[in-house]
Amino acid sequence: MKKELFADSSIDPYLNRTRVLYVEDEDMIRESMVRILKRRIKTIYTGANGREGLELFKQHNPDVVITDIRMPQMSGIEMAQGIREIDEDVPVILTTAYNDEDFFLKAIEIGVVKYIKKPINSTDLFAVLVKVAKSISQQKEIDAKNEFIKTILDNNPAYVLLTDEEDIFFMNKSFLHFLGYDTFDEFKSNGLNINRFLVVKDDAFYKNKSFTEWMTEVIHRKEKQHIVYLAGKEQLKSEAGAYLISATQIPEIQHTDRYLITFTDISGIESERRRFQDMACKDPLTSIFNRKKFEDELEKEILRTERYKTSLTMMIFDIDHFKSINDTYGHQAGDAVLIELTEIVTANVRKTDIFARYGGEEFVVITPETTLIGAIELAEKLRELIQNNNFSHVGHVTCSFGVSEYMNSESSHTFIKKADYALYIAKNNGRNRVQFVEKEHSLVFNLPF
Ligand code: GH3
Ligand code: MG
Ligand code: MG
Repeated sequence: MKKELFADSSIDPYLNRTRVLYVEDEDMIRESMVRILKRRIKTIYTGANGREGLELFKQHNPDVVITDIRMPQMSGIEMAQGIREIDEDVPVILTTAYNDEDFFLKAIEIGVVKYIKKPINSTDLFAVLVKVAKSISQQKEIDAKNEFIKTILDNNPAYVLLTDEEDIFFMNKSFLHFLGYDTFDEFKSNGLNINRFLVVKDDAFYKNKSFTEWMTEVIHRKEKQHIVYLAGKEQLKSEAGAYLISATQIPEIQHTDRYLITFTDISGIESERRRFQDMACKDPLTSIFNRKKFEDELEKEILRTERYKTSLTMMIFDIDHFKSINDTYGHQAGDAVLIELTEIVTANVRKTDIFARYGGEEFVVITPETTLIGAIELAEKLRELIQNNNFSHVGHVTCSFGVSEYMNSESSHTFIKKADYALYIAKNNGRNRVQFVEKEHSLVFNLPF
């Protein structure tokens, strides 16, 4: 009595919202059960046999199925099998008057949640329905939460993927679209991983590494900054963007740790960094290397020469009477001469040579793996090219050159001073000429430095 009262007065919120398909061929039983069910459940679809039941299932996709077993046209078991083909999870409750073991086995096969004997005890049935409804409702809540998280991730402009270091389990929409896919399944069905979209630069931490190898590094070496270059669907390799990667551990899912990997686009910052780096080693007027860069490169070349015993030479050259060019044509015309002159030199030295602005109208070229004779020849060639060039506004301009060769264990300072001394001699000897310091002469000259 008390239970009946409870059932009538308190409408269970889980149960009330659950949509039930009830299939029973005996009209009397069906009608009386529907009356009882209606007390606590809002939506009930009824069928008189398996065929009707299956049709109703297809139409309404109910949350739970209660069905008799023995019915004309199509049995409850056959109907349940048909339902399983459409929906693997929907709970099915069987009711029957027969104690047939064969049905039990089939029922287990189909994944029936409960077997209730006829005549149906409504308290028992509701107890089962409440449980089923509760778990459906919890599952719906979980689904809704997952959907919520997915929506947030999908709308995040940063690219996101979920991995266990080997497999990828999720990629957000912005990532998929960038790579040219509409859905994650489409991406997966191509048997791809991210490696295919990586642009491998020389210093890339992921160079020659499998997806798992570089993911492991990203995940377990957090102290390091990891940047990858990715070219999306519409991009050429040269247009690849730079992405900073971060990894967040997600609590265990199905006994494995998963990691949320976020790719943040830092292309803008990265190109700024490169621009600053560039600025730090280039002369703003002529865009060739500045003196600081020359000094750094010279130290490197000296180390290389010491190690491989190749010859290393350099030349310093200075524009003749540049002060009077400025005085006659103005400072701007002088600037134009500096630019035009660097263009001539740049076009006539090797890519491996290092050409820099040493001071105001003084320049230097480091010529690795070049003998003294080779360097003198190059200096002579440059001298002639400059002399024969018709500089705009200004006309003819000449330069004086000092060439030196690096000697074993010498300091960079001495190496430069020798070239400088040769330049000084060139100026003294009448300008527009090439002078050099020979190895043995460097001692004979007894240079004042
Ligand atoms: P020399 O043949 O002995 O080298 O004579 P010079 O006149 O070239 O040498 P000096 O060192 O007396 O004068 C160099 C001039 O170069 C003075 C300076 O104003 C000018 N100069 C230095 N840097 C720049 C620059 O960036 N632009 C312009 N227009 N002139 C510069
Ligand atoms: Mg000068
Ligand atoms: Mg000078």
